[in-house]
Amino acid sequence: MSLTLTLTYRALLRAKSDALHTRLQGLLRPLVQAGETSSRARIAVLAKVASDTAVDRALRTFAATKTPVADSGLYRALAQLVVATDSGLPIELWTADGKRVAQIGKGLQVDSIATLAPELRPRNGVIVSQVPNGPPGLDSARLGALYAANGRVYTWAVAPVFRNSERVGYIAQQRRVAVNAQTKRLISDLFGEELSVYLRNSTDNFWSSLEGTPANQPIRRDSTKDGFIVYRSEAAPRLGVEGRIAGAPYEWVLEVPVSALVDEPRTTLRQILLVSLLVLLGGVAIAWAVGRRITRPLVELTTAAEAIAQGQYERRANTAGAMSDEVLRLGTSFNRMVMEVEASQHELASQVEEALTVSEELERTNTQLQETSSDAEEARDAALEANRAKSDFLAVMSHELRTPLNAIGGYTEILQLGIYGPVNDQQKDALMRIARSQQTLLALINDVLNFAKLEAGEVSYTITDVPLRSALGLLEELISPQLHARKMTYAVHPPEPDLIVRADPDKLQQILINLLSNAIKYSAPGARIDVHSEAHGDKIQIHVQDTGIGIAPERLDKIFDPFIQVGRALNRPHEGVGLGLSISRDLATAMGGTLSVKSIVGQGSTFVLTLARGKGTTDA
Ligand code: ADP
Repeated sequence: MSLTLTLTYRALLRAKSDALHTRLQGLLRPLVQAGETSSRARIAVLAKVASDTAVDRALRTFAATKTPVADSGLYRALAQLVVATDSGLPIELWTADGKRVAQIGKGLQVDSIATLAPELRPRNGVIVSQVPNGPPGLDSARLGALYAANGRVYTWAVAPVFRNSERVGYIAQQRRVAVNAQTKRLISDLFGEELSVYLRNSTDNFWSSLEGTPANQPIRRDSTKDGFIVYRSEAAPRLGVEGRIAGAPYEWVLEVPVSALVDEPRTTLRQILLVSLLVLLGGVAIAWAVGRRITRPLVELTTAAEAIAQGQYERRANTAGAMSDEVLRLGTSFNRMVMEVEASQHELASQVEEALTVSEELERTNTQLQETSSDAEEARDAALEANRAKSDFLAVMSHELRTPLNAIGGYTEILQLGIYGPVNDQQKDALMRIARSQQTLLALINDVLNFAKLEAGEVSYTITDVPLRSALGLLEELISPQLHARKMTYAVHPPEPDLIVRADPDKLQQILINLLSNAIKYSAPGARIDVHSEAHGDKIQIHVQDTGIGIAPERLDKIFDPFIQVGRALNRPHEGVGLGLSISRDLATAMGGTLSVKSIVGQGSTFVLTLARGKGTTDA
C-alpha cells in the first residue's frame, strides 16, 4: 500500500508541478514581453532626445561658457523623457568627460552620478555604457542595473550624444521601478496572493519587489527541471521561474510557495489514505465480525469437547448462531455423539458396578472355597489315615487268619489220609468240602493281603524281559481243574516265539490268572475262553476273551474299584470279594501298563492287558 501511495503521490506531484509550471510560464511570458516592449520604447525615446539639435547646441554652449546651460530648447527636448510615474526624477545632460551640462527634475541630487549603476558610471571621467548582454555596439542607449536608494528601487537609462560620429556627451535618466496597479491586479487575479513577483539584476546582486522596494535576496537557489527552488531566511521554500528581459540587465522572477505545489497532492493523498484506512478498517471490522461468527461456534465446540473430556457428559455445544451449514451440522453431530458417549458412560458405570459386586461375591466364594478346601484337606488326611489304618488292619487280620486256616487245611488232609483211623464215605465227603472251603477262604485272604500290601506300597517289582509264549503256557495247567469242573473250552493262540514283554513275571501271572478265573466264574458252563496277543509298535496287548454273562456299560468303570462286585448273588459263595480286578489294574499300572475291558451283556467280555514291549523282538 505504501508503494501504491508513493507512486500515486509522485504522479499527482508531477501533474501538479506541470500544471503550476505552465501557469507560471503563462504569466511570465507576457511580463517579459511587456518589459522588453517598454525597454525598447524607452531606449528609442532616449536615443531620439540624444540626437536633438538642442542637445548638441547645449553641449557647444557649455564647452564655450563652462557653466550649466539653461536653455528652453534643451529643457523641451529633455522634457520629452518625462514619464508620469517617474515625475521629479532627474534627467541630465553630461559631457563625454563627465561634466553635468543641465538637468531637469525635482530633488536634484548633486551626486546623482554616484548612484548610477556601476556599469554606467563614468570611468576616468568617461561614462562607460558597455552593458553585459546589452545591445551590440558601444555607446548605444541602454538601461542600467537596478539599485536601491531611500527605500526605493531605481535604474538609470543612458544614451550617448554623437556629433559627426564623435561621442560628445550623455543623456542619463533615473527611473523608478514600479508596476502599475492594473498589472498588479491582473497578476493577483491570475495567481492569488500566494504569488510573489520580483525583478532581479542579471548579475543577481540585487532584488526588487513588484512594488519597487528592495527585496530580500535568497540564501540559496536550487535549479530544477522546470525552474528552481528558492530559500530565503524568513520564508518557507518557494518554487520559481524567471525570464530575462532582452535589452535590460534585469529579469522577472515569479515565485510560489512549494506548498502550492505539494498541498493539493498531499491533500489528495491524505484523502486517499483516509479512504484506504476507512476501507481497511471496514474490512477488518467485517472480517472480525465474520470471523467471530465462524470461530465462536468452533470455540464453543472446543470448550464443550474439553468439558466432556473432563467428564462433564451433560455438557452440549451451542452452535445456533453459526454462519455455515457445515458448522451447524458439526454441532448437531457433536451433540448426538456426546449423548451416545453419555449413554455408553452410564452403561459402563453400571457394568463396572456389577463387576465390582461380582468381584466381591467371588472373593467371598473364594474365602469359602479356601475354608472348604482346608476342610477337605483335613477330611482327606483323615481318610488317608483311616485308609492306612484299614490297610494295616487288613494286613494284620489276613496274616492272623492264614495261620488257623493253614492248620485247618493240614488237619483236614491228615484226616482224609486216614492217619487218625479209617474214614467212611460220608466223612470223606465232609472232609472234601472242608478242604475246598479252606482253600477258597485262603484265596480270599491272600487277595485281601495282596490288596493291603499294594495299598501300603509294600509290593516290590522286578521288571524283566518275559517271553510271552512261555508265560502263557504255564496258565492252562493252573486253571485246568476249574475248566474241567465247568466243562469249558480254553484256547490259547500262541504268540510269536520271540514276542517279549517288559514285566515282573510273578505279577504278570497273577494278573492273567485273575482274568482267567473271572472268565470262568462269570461264564455259564460250556462257555469258551480265548487268549491271544498282539504287538502294536512298542506295546504288546494280551486279550482274555470269554463268552460269559458280560458287564452292563454303566458298571464297566466301577469293576476296577476295590470291593466292587457286579450282580453278586448270595448263592454263589465261591466268588471273591471284589478285589481281583482292582489288584490287577494296580499291578499293571505299576509295571507301566494298562488294563481295560470291553463287554456286551449276554455275549461276553474281553479284558485287555497292555504292557511295554521288550527289546530284541520284532513285530509279529
Ligand atoms: P470277584 O471276582 O472277587 O468278585 P473281581 O474284582 O475279580 O472280584 O471282579 C469284580 C466284578 O467284576 C465281579 O464281581 C464281576 O461282577 C465282574 N466281573 C469280573 N470279571 C468278569 C467277567 N469275565 N465276566 C463278567 N463279569 C466279570
